[in-house]
Amino acid sequence: MQSPEPSADHGVPLHALPPEAALERFGASAAGLSEAEAARRRSLHGANRLPGAPKQKPVLRFLKQFNNVLIYVLIGSAVVTAALQHWVDTGVILAVVLINAVIGFVQEGRAEDAMAAIRDMLAPQAMVLRDGQRQSLDVAALVPGDIVCVEPGARVPADLRLIEAHALRLQEAALTGESVPVEKGIAPVGAGSALGDRSPMLYSGTLVAAGTGRGVVVATGLSTQIGQISGMLSRVETVRTPLLNQMDRFARWLTAVILLVAVALLAYGALVRQLPFADLFMAIVGLSVAAIPEGLPAVLTITLAVGVRTMARRNAIVRQLPAIETLGSVSVICSDKTGTLTLNAMKVVNLVACDRVYDIGGDGYAPEGAIRREGIDIRAPEDPVLQDFALAAALCNDASLHQHGPTWHVEGDPMEGALMALAGKISEEGPAPYRRWGRTDAIPFDAAHRYMATLHHDHEGHAAIHVKGAPEAVLALCRTQGAPGAGDQPLDSAYWHEMIETLAAEGQRVLAVARREVPPDRTVLNTSDLEGELTLIGLVGLIDPPRPEAIAAVTECRIAGIRVKMITGDHAATARAIARQIGLQNVDRVLTGAELQVMEDAALSRAVIETDIFARTSPAHKLRLVTALQSHGLTVAMTGDGVNDAPALKRADAGIAMGQGGSEAAKEAAAVVLADDNFASIVAAVREGRTVYDNIKKVISWTLPTSTGEAMTVVVALFAGMSLPITPVQILWVNLITAGTLGLALAFEPTEPGTMRQPPRPRREPLLSGTLVWHIALVSMLFLAVVFGMYFLAIARGDSIAYAQTLAMNTMVILEIFHLFFIRNIHGTSLTLRAARGTPIIWACVLTVTLAQVAITYIPALRAIFGTEPLSLGDGMLAVAVGVVFLVALEVEKQMRLRWRRTRGGA
Ligand code: ATP
Repeated sequence: MQSPEPSADHGVPLHALPPEAALERFGASAAGLSEAEAARRRSLHGANRLPGAPKQKPVLRFLKQFNNVLIYVLIGSAVVTAALQHWVDTGVILAVVLINAVIGFVQEGRAEDAMAAIRDMLAPQAMVLRDGQRQSLDVAALVPGDIVCVEPGARVPADLRLIEAHALRLQEAALTGESVPVEKGIAPVGAGSALGDRSPMLYSGTLVAAGTGRGVVVATGLSTQIGQISGMLSRVETVRTPLLNQMDRFARWLTAVILLVAVALLAYGALVRQLPFADLFMAIVGLSVAAIPEGLPAVLTITLAVGVRTMARRNAIVRQLPAIETLGSVSVICSDKTGTLTLNAMKVVNLVACDRVYDIGGDGYAPEGAIRREGIDIRAPEDPVLQDFALAAALCNDASLHQHGPTWHVEGDPMEGALMALAGKISEEGPAPYRRWGRTDAIPFDAAHRYMATLHHDHEGHAAIHVKGAPEAVLALCRTQGAPGAGDQPLDSAYWHEMIETLAAEGQRVLAVARREVPPDRTVLNTSDLEGELTLIGLVGLIDPPRPEAIAAVTECRIAGIRVKMITGDHAATARAIARQIGLQNVDRVLTGAELQVMEDAALSRAVIETDIFARTSPAHKLRLVTALQSHGLTVAMTGDGVNDAPALKRADAGIAMGQGGSEAAKEAAAVVLADDNFASIVAAVREGRTVYDNIKKVISWTLPTSTGEAMTVVVALFAGMSLPITPVQILWVNLITAGTLGLALAFEPTEPGTMRQPPRPRREPLLSGTLVWHIALVSMLFLAVVFGMYFLAIARGDSIAYAQTLAMNTMVILEIFHLFFIRNIHGTSLTLRAARGTPIIWACVLTVTLAQVAITYIPALRAIFGTEPLSLGDGMLAVAVGVVFLVALEVEKQMRLRWRRTRGGA
């Protein structure tokens, strides 16, 4: 997959060729390919992606389901029952084995599908020039000859030969193992240079650490250096989290204990009580199968997969699964302001020059709108001050505007889009007049120095530097200010600071713009050309309204006991005004990056608790803030977008990257990526995280008492020397039918109304808490009492043993259904109409179980297998009534326990 258009220099490596020759070799131009040509090349070269690791074959995945202790026990039991010629038992056991495997197979498939869907949503994007227009494209669509623009934090999407570079440094560890970023430039290097020394080349998979550049794509997909080395993406993600691993270990440990107890019971029954072996053996098998929570790990996996999918639907894409658990316990959300709490729909509303203020009209990004001064419309093209503003706004700018129908869109940074629209309003002809200036060099924006500078030349031999950036940063570079009609004057810092405060207090984001004329032979721009050499043109005030849904989400956080902290690069007064608008609580105190910088760790640790607004921060401060918050035992979610945010995102308990405005570096460091960059989606993810955790707790709280109750029935009967109230085959049946339906239904439970009214869960709260152990004991005891009670009731009435067993078994299933309705509401009560209404999934499961029970109770062929007798309607209703009493008893016990805990907590 090399050169599509061979040329005379073929054979010379690309890094040894000048940029023009590289472009020529690929039949490309600096303006990019046309769409038609790109399509032609795509059909020739295929998609720019590496093949994924091969998927496991379905047959193998199915067979894997048999590799499980429970299945071994069951198969062993089938062999023994067959040897004893108990063919019905053998058949039932084998059916259980098969159905178990099928359920496991389907569940695992669903979980994997959920993960695959997520992976597709994270397809990276690249900034490409096609038909002369910058556009963001799926990386897979790149073809050799495309021109790709890279900026800090971008992952290089294909192998590129640079044709333009500004202070570009690349982190090539993925390829060379070298972790220190290397300098890149366009000058050719020796043909024999090693990979790490080929400075004009950018290789796919490496990371832009700083600077900007453009390059022509020279290799895609498997032809890239990384493609040739690795061949395929070997990372196969599985649905695993610490909690699941913990539950897996618990289930394995429990299984071992149960099997030991089973063997001991077998020995006891056979040797001490001298019970008939065949019956005893089946009872022990029934007991083991009932007690072993075989479905639990699979159901928990499904619960997580369901959570991952729901979060994705709410625009939060989980990259690292443990994040689902952490999200549920988040107690502080540290959020960026621009684009997350605000709409990032920027509009210039004010311009401040040294003796005047302009009001700028217009809607959206349309480059048209009235400009007024002291309430009077201005003819902008005739106003020299406005012309200075417009030139700076248009030239010191990387964005472009496009019109689709009546609306204008920005390609690039929305703030720069707003500046482009401003320039268009001033010229009254859109950005066209500024195109006669060509950019010769630039210092890209960096959150550390907070300004951007460009050097431009026009055809008449003029050269000018333009700078825009945070006012403090730009003012520090200026010596003079432009005075309309009076040449340049010394800078009046007091005036400007007062104006900055005035605009910022209204919630405006304030930028300063400055200029400097330089001799035309100057072609390189250095920071030394700026320091103390600039003339301030004035201030630009932009508005960026808060997101309405963020306001609601902030309120939801307050009720849920989650603190929201705003960490912004913006000015303190702007940050405070926006914080007030979105309803942050503590707006009187703002800590700035400069103050934070000089604070000792101990002082910072105190300050982070009292402060909710952090302004003019740089990415390094974010890392200190996360650490300080964590020192209080808080679980911190932190948002970020830039390459330098990666350490803080990694350090946070839940690092959250912006999907639209975020760099690849930030996305890769984050556990969650927000598809819509919206604060409300973070809160939705936290809500879903809490729901998933609740559901995991519900699955466990339903499964363990149920299986314990079933198993205890057999144990008690054996010890007491009684006949079994439920036959072993019936226990196998009940276990199979309920675990596959009722147990699974809880994985799909929606968020409870009270979920976001609870304080955050402590970070290390054990899943198997004292309350759960008590619940297991209570429910097993009630199960035992009811099952034996119903059995003896029937016997006392003179019913047959088979009838009594059928009644006991059906009552047990009914109890399980009522137990399910009880477990569904851990934050509220189960005795409401809403709780009784359930969900379609719950009712589908209840219906399935009911039909299955009716079938084995009344259909003669099944009755023969399961040894059942048809129940009378009266007994059926009695069983349901017992279920209702059971539910009410559990609910009364829960409410009393909660009340006791509340009064104890209040004391
Ligand atoms: P947040 O951290 O909440 O997203 P932010 O976008 O304001 O806020 P930064 O991107 O660090 O944070 O920007 C800090 C300041 O730098 C801005 O307030 C603005 O004054 C200036 N600035 C931002 N982008 C540019 C740019 N492209 N060119 C010049 N100056 C910029």
